[in-house]
Amino acid sequence: MTSLAQESVEQNTASRPDRRLAERYSRQILFRGIGEAGQQKLAAARVGIIGCGATGSAIAGLLARAGVGTLRIIDRDYVEPSNLQRQSLFDEADAAESLPKAIAAARKIAAFNSEIAVEPKVDDLVPSNIEALLEGLDLILDGTDNFETRYLLNDYAVSISRPWIYSAAVGSYAVTLNVLPGQTACLACIFPDSPRGMVETCETSGILNSAVNLVASIAATEAKKYLVGASGLRTTLLSFDLWTNEHAEISAAEPRPSCRACGEHNFVHLAGEGRPHITLCGRNSVQIHERQRPIDFHELDRRLKPHGVVRHNDFVLKFWHEPYEMTLFPDGRAIIKGTTDTAVARSLYARYVGS
Ligand SMILES: [Zn+2]
Repeated sequence: MTSLAQESVEQNTASRPDRRLAERYSRQILFRGIGEAGQQKLAAARVGIIGCGATGSAIAGLLARAGVGTLRIIDRDYVEPSNLQRQSLFDEADAAESLPKAIAAARKIAAFNSEIAVEPKVDDLVPSNIEALLEGLDLILDGTDNFETRYLLNDYAVSISRPWIYSAAVGSYAVTLNVLPGQTACLACIFPDSPRGMVETCETSGILNSAVNLVASIAATEAKKYLVGASGLRTTLLSFDLWTNEHAEISAAEPRPSCRACGEHNFVHLAGEGRPHITLCGRNSVQIHERQRPIDFHELDRRLKPHGVVRHNDFVLKFWHEPYEMTLFPDGRAIIKGTTDTAVARSLYARYVGS
């Protein structure tokens, strides 16, 4: 009797967390393609999201609510008021604080799903840190806004046979591709060089939040399919213009034998040769990431006070010196707003932070 009663108590204790999870994800478990086994696979999965702007926010939100066990969110930027129209993980308080997007995203996700792990990384993904930033992931999703990072990610993913999902949205247009190295075409198979039509950016063409959500929904669904081991992942480059209703699919079912990346294993972007240390990063701003230069925010705050308005928290220091606005991160990286002239940005940085 005693041992039976004990056993049943132990069983109850053991199954309590499972039951809570079953309740939280009950509507998703009911869906035939996922089921209980699929839910457990999602819980065990480790997914990276590179870039947490509009698309990255939407993808991260969907995968976090779906119960993907570990999300690593990598983003170099901070929240601004103009992000709030489409970047669904952020609010006005994040913008007022200029919180790094990765940190703000982790906080927001913790508020609606504290049972998954989020690993925020405030960093610019470059050849020298890509291995460290992306190690140990099952799948990587693209939430970036530029082809430089996408080609770097493609080279890395192909070189270690890690699947990734390309997503982009600009204007009312959305496009996405699943890359399963060795099985399907990679990004460089389809676009050996940056595609011309896609060089428009959100800064020049604007963007509809609904185009973002469309591409994020498709990518997040393909991610779930991959993670639960479902068959029938899409093997096309899919594009959709929500405003005109034009849509198209180009076959990406086979790798291109002469592809630089997956055919010839020539990973030029991973080698990072000739990569500039100062880059334009949209919205009339320049990013400086020349070297690791740990910064003491208290000390710099004191030094900069006589030259303009300074404000800092644990994550960023902002310095306004008309007409420029400099945002510094603890590792010495800076985003200087108010110019697209890299020489001006470099001299401001040298003058106020150090050369
Ligand atoms: Zn390829």
